[in-house]
Amino acid sequence: MSDAEPPERPLTVIAIDGPAGSGKSTVGKRLAAELGLEYLDTGAMYRGVTFAALRRGIDPADVEVVGRLAQQVELDLPGDGTLIVDGVDATIEIRGPEVTRAVSLVAANSAVRKELVRRQREWAESRGGGVLEGRDIGSVVFPDARLKVYLTASPEVRAERRSKEVIDLDYATVAADIARRDAADQGRDDSPLAEAEGALVVDTSDRDVDEIVADLVGRVR
Ligand code: C5P
Repeated sequence: MSDAEPPERPLTVIAIDGPAGSGKSTVGKRLAAELGLEYLDTGAMYRGVTFAALRRGIDPADVEVVGRLAQQVELDLPGDGTLIVDGVDATIEIRGPEVTRAVSLVAANSAVRKELVRRQREWAESRGGGVLEGRDIGSVVFPDARLKVYLTASPEVRAERRSKEVIDLDYATVAADIARRDAADQGRDDSPLAEAEGALVVDTSDRDVDEIVADLVGRVR
């Protein structure tokens, strides 16, 4: 018998990053199903912390208080698209205008990022891997991922996709919101949105989802 630690299982991590509306969720979910892996929407986690702050009347710009909140908040993502925040179903509200307006500010908070990155790594390690989508997965969370993909699409296509998802908001409002959020995500100091080194860049503007997913499955296998 040896006291040696068992060799670590290699993780099968697929990292999908890109701006809002680039197709990350659609491609990520499909790819996960094809590969028999679980899927994690890390944007929902940043939205969950934002939801918790707003619900408690905390100013999202209060770096210290929001940083502490991130460590305490319970975020439950059962994998069916729902998000439970401290026992409250926040699935609908995290996609609403209040959370969407404030999330970039919360995501620029380094203490929040540190805590959520820790949870994302733990999530993947406890499952032997998974498909993770976000803004910094290939650059920060799992730079050694099996496959790193950076999805893009034209601003018009991205705004068109998002305006189909939301009710009550017209195309111009959605387009302006996406542009503002992209600029904030690309311009922040901590883990800005950028193509990770070694990432495969895929423009999804005019491509069929089936074709993209088949191509990615082929590359993983
Ligand atoms: O993906 P989604 O648009 O829901 O993400 C909401 C926000 O969360 C993004 O605009 C970004 O500010 C932040 N985010 C992040 N890092 C991630 C995922 C999301 O900063 N890995």
